[in-house]
Amino acid sequence: MRFRSELDPLRPYIPPKSWRMAAEGTDEHRYAKLTSNELAFGPLPEAKAALAEVLPRANRYPDSHVTRLRQVVAEANAGAETRNVLVGNGSSEVLMNVLQLLPVGEVVYPWPSFSLYPMMCSVLGMTDRPVSLTERHEIPTEALLSAVTDETRAVILCNPNNPSGTYLTLDEVTSLASELPPDVLLILDEAYVEFVDDPTYCNSHALALERENVITARTFSKAHGLAGLRVGYGIGSEKIADYAERVRFPVSVNLAAQVAATASMLARDKVRERAEFVVRERNRLQEAFAGARLDFIPSQGNFIMVRFEAQDFEKAGVLVREGTALEYPGWSRVTVGDSWENDRVIAALEDATRETTREAKPEAKPQRAS
Ligand SMILES: *Cc1c(COP(=O)(O)O)cnc(C)c1O
Repeated sequence: MRFRSELDPLRPYIPPKSWRMAAEGTDEHRYAKLTSNELAFGPLPEAKAALAEVLPRANRYPDSHVTRLRQVVAEANAGAETRNVLVGNGSSEVLMNVLQLLPVGEVVYPWPSFSLYPMMCSVLGMTDRPVSLTERHEIPTEALLSAVTDETRAVILCNPNNPSGTYLTLDEVTSLASELPPDVLLILDEAYVEFVDDPTYCNSHALALERENVITARTFSKAHGLAGLRVGYGIGSEKIADYAERVRFPVSVNLAAQVAATASMLARDKVRERAEFVVRERNRLQEAFAGARLDFIPSQGNFIMVRFEAQDFEKAGVLVREGTALEYPGWSRVTVGDSWENDRVIAALEDATRETTREAKPEAKPQRAS
């Protein structure tokens, strides 16, 4: 057999250590699991009730058009109509479907970013054009624009960016959109939008409704706490939503995902409260990192990049995403967890400080003597 050569360099996704431990039957529950930017809390009671209610009907196919979820998403985004809403098996599918609409060519995105982008490009036969984040880990707007050529079909902007947590304000996104050629699609991946507390970043969906070459993709996997059910959505022009529906698998959003996401979106005030908790805890962790004199990148997501080894977190019972997997060797990406988990993160820093003081002692003596 011969397979498509674009797939040769692709390697299966290297999952975070906690997934491997679970697969090997290791008791990962003894650890604070802060690897994958999930929410520390389970689905809202409203979502659980909706799930319990539909389970007996699992023998039936669900609504393949996902009508009810599209309606509540439209209601939650002023100015959007049901016909502006895309849906998918996670926002991953929304992103994939959107890329599938474009002629084969180049895709530009900041890097390091979400590992799915290079993977999707290879699978679709697109050429990826990663553009490095700035030295301060920020999204390099000018360099992104310079990377656009006649062959460019899309720019993917993860905003806020995973893993750096840095972001562009709505004004910056708007000017980026204006400067792109009209047939280059700006794909905003807003998986973490609910955790942004900078008021100058808001209502990106309005931009996506206004311009045919902008689309925003969002997810129920993070702030809504439904990662295991796989459901995401997008907002864009009527035309892009229509075309996306042509390439989507007919029943890609399962019954459980449809009803849980609908109930969660209807209870979005509670989702907002949970996100506000995460933001407060993010500030608490960032203060602890600053207090321990560690380099970290101020984040607008539910995670923080910090220059502290994953194995040192693990010694203290905390699993984080290893920086090497994110092209940040020596760093870790720490998901903001619940209060108890975040306390353990802070305890890990204290353990390490204690160890270094102990190690440093022999050297300290001659210094004092001299
Ligand atoms: C977690 C994440 C997603 C969400 O993916 P789903 O398929 O919706 O679970 C999308 N984009 C980025 C950058 C993420 O980190």
